[in-house]
Amino acid sequence: MRLVNRTKWNTSDLEKLCLRTIKELGIDNNRTIVIKQHTRKSTLCFSGKAYVRYNRVVVHVPRIKVKILEPFDFSDENCQLFVNLLAHEFDHNKGLYHKDMLDMDYTKDDYEWAKNYKVRVAKTKQKKPEGYFQSKLHNRTLAQIKKWQTKKKRAEDYLKKLRRKKSQYEKELKIKEK
Ligand SMILES: [Zn+2]
Repeated sequence: MRLVNRTKWNTSDLEKLCLRTIKELGIDNNRTIVIKQHTRKSTLCFSGKAYVRYNRVVVHVPRIKVKILEPFDFSDENCQLFVNLLAHEFDHNKGLYHKDMLDMDYTKDDYEWAKNYKVRVAKTKQKKPEGYFQSKLHNRTLAQIKKWQTKKKRAEDYLKKLRRKKSQYEKELKIKEK
């Protein structure tokens, strides 16, 4: 399974839940799951789309902080809903269209185990220490100076060689003139 996490939810938590879902469903592990978050801050549902007969699904989940309500809790029944959605999308991968799914029941009760899962908010990246970017630019400039110095040295050496040739040819010309 390849998980592409484009959200601020913890990747390894999402991975655990997705892997367990695949295992429980007894389906092929060779698939890609892309997880994105809803663009709207207030969207609280899960939604997805799948490629029919191609093992790739894209799932949208709520953002880590919703604007009006409490932060969305990605655990318990919400994990069940997430698994529910995955199961539905995986059925599309199998080649099923909605018209083929009319008698299918994706009730969350089927995935009681999912209630024990929790997806935490990903840890925010450590703030870079003061002067981090300046020192990066400084190092890059040092490297560039070194590079151009080498080029300059090479150009000077070559010019020397050309001048030697020039005076050599001039000497030969003078001899002939005599
Ligand atoms: Zn569908």
